[in-house]
Amino acid sequence: MTLTHSALYIDGTWQSPTTPDAISVHSASTEEKIGSVPDSAPNDVDTAVAAAGRAFRTWSRLAPADRADALDRFAAALGRRADLTARLVSQQNGMPISISTVAEGQGPSGLLSYYAALARTTELEEHRNALAGTGTTIVRKEPIGVVAAIAPWNFPSLLAMMKIAPALASGCTVVLKPSPETVLDAFVLAEAAMEADLPAGVLNIVTGGPDIGKYLVAHPGVHKVAFTGSTPAGRHIGATCGQLLRPVSLELGGKSAAVILDDADLDATMAGLATASLINTGQTCYASTRILAPEGRYEEVLDAVTAMVESLPVGDSLDPTTFIGPLVSAGQRERVESFIATGTAEGARITTGGSRPRTLERGWFLEPTVFGNVSANHTIATEEIFGPVLSVIPYTDEVQAIAIANDSEYGLGGTVWTADFDRGLEIARSVDTGSFGINGYTLDFGAPFGGTKASGIGRELGPEGLAAYFQTKSIFTTA
Ligand code: NAD
Repeated sequence: MTLTHSALYIDGTWQSPTTPDAISVHSASTEEKIGSVPDSAPNDVDTAVAAAGRAFRTWSRLAPADRADALDRFAAALGRRADLTARLVSQQNGMPISISTVAEGQGPSGLLSYYAALARTTELEEHRNALAGTGTTIVRKEPIGVVAAIAPWNFPSLLAMMKIAPALASGCTVVLKPSPETVLDAFVLAEAAMEADLPAGVLNIVTGGPDIGKYLVAHPGVHKVAFTGSTPAGRHIGATCGQLLRPVSLELGGKSAAVILDDADLDATMAGLATASLINTGQTCYASTRILAPEGRYEEVLDAVTAMVESLPVGDSLDPTTFIGPLVSAGQRERVESFIATGTAEGARITTGGSRPRTLERGWFLEPTVFGNVSANHTIATEEIFGPVLSVIPYTDEVQAIAIANDSEYGLGGTVWTADFDRGLEIARSVDTGSFGINGYTLDFGAPFGGTKASGIGRELGPEGLAAYFQTKSIFTTA
C-alpha cells in the first residue's frame, strides 16, 4: 500500500501545490515505493512564510498558558499517532522499530509536553537595577518571529520537534522543511496539528530538497533559522544567515570518541557501547564510532567489539528484534562502502563485516563493520561515515586518549567507559564536545544538546532550547 498526499499543510488547511511535481518515498528495507507527496515550489514557500507571519501577530500575543494548552492538545493528537509515526520512520530511513517506537513515536509528543510545561513557568519579564539612584529596567523575553526549521532524515520527527516545540512555546511560528527521504511522517505531524486545532499558520510544512531549503533560509519573511544536518550544508546556511544578520542554530555532524579506560568491565561496556556507537545503524550524529582502547588491552577490546558487533541482529527495520537495519538509501550505502574501501586501502584491517549481507537481497543493507589497526589520522577515524562502521584506535595513557578524542574537526558527543566514576568525570570534563556520556549516552530533554567546532552553533533541548527562540528587550524607566 502506498500513501499518497496531494496537498500541503499551509495556513491551517490542505492547500493545492503550485506544480504537479511529486516526491516519491521508498522503503529502505524493501526498496519499494511506499508513498508520494507534492514537491513544493518557491510560491508554496512564499505562501507558507506569509501565513506564518500573519499567525505570529496573534500567536506571539497569546498568554503563555494558552499557547501551552495548544501544545498539550498537539502532544495528545501526536501521541495517538505514535505507532504510525514510528512505523513510517522505520520504513523510510531503516531505523529499527524498537528505536523509532521510543525516539520517533513517543519522543515528539513528549517534547511538546515538556515545552508546554516550561512555557507555563518561564518568567518573561524581570526587573533589574544595577546602579543605585537610577530607574528600574524591565528586561523582556520576546519571541523572534517566523522560524525556518530544516530537518534531516536520520531522526526526522524528533529533530523537527526539537525546533517546533520550543519555537511554538516561545510564541514564534514555524515553517518546517523535512528531508525528502523522510517526508511522510511530517504529514502525520500536520494531521495531528489539524486535529489539535493549532491556529492557522502557526505551523506550516513545505517539502523539497536543498534548493527549496536554500530558498526558505534566505526568505525575507523569515526571522530565524534552525537547522540540523550535515556540516557542509550548515556552513552554507551559516554564511547566508551571516550575510542577512539572521539568527541561526546549527546542529551538524560528529565523529565522537568512546574512551575505554583500562579498568573498564568489557561485558558491561559492550552492552552499552552497542547503542552508543551503532544506534540507528550508525546513522546518528553523536554516535561514538572512534573507539579508543588502552594499548595494554588493545587486542582484548578489539575482540570484544568484534564479538559485540557480530552478535547484533541485522534485518528488516520493522522486525522488533532487529538492531542493525538498512541504510537510508542506495547512495548512502555506496558512500559508506567507499569509506570501507578507503579504510582497507590505508592499512586498517576489517575484523568483521565489510560487505552487503548475502541473505538480504533487497534493501540497502550493509554488514556492521569493525576496523582494527586504525591510526587516529586515518580517513575512517577522522571523517563522519554515518553508517555501521567502528574504528578501534590504541592509546598509551589518559593524556593521549584525551588528545586523540580532541583531535577532531567535530565536537558533538562522546563517551567514557570505566569502573571509576570520578576518572570518567575527569575525562568528560576534558573532552571538547557539547555533550558526553559516562558508561552510556542517552539524551535528556531537560539538558542542552549541541556541538562545538564543526558540529555546530547553539543548543537545543532544555531551557536553553527555549531561550534560542527569544530575543531580549530592555525597557529603561525612571521609576
Ligand atoms: P543534509 O545536510 O544533506 O540535509 C539536511 C536537511 O537540509 C535536508 O532537509 C536537506 O534537504 C536540507 N538542505 C541541504 N542543504 C541545504 C542548504 N544548503 N540550505 C538549506 N537546506 C539544505 O543532511 P542529511 O544527509 O539529511 O543528514 C545527515 C547529517 O545530519 C549528518 O552529517 C549528521 O551528522 C547530521 N545530523 C546532525 C545532528 C545534530 O544534532 N548535530 C542530528 C542528526 C543529524
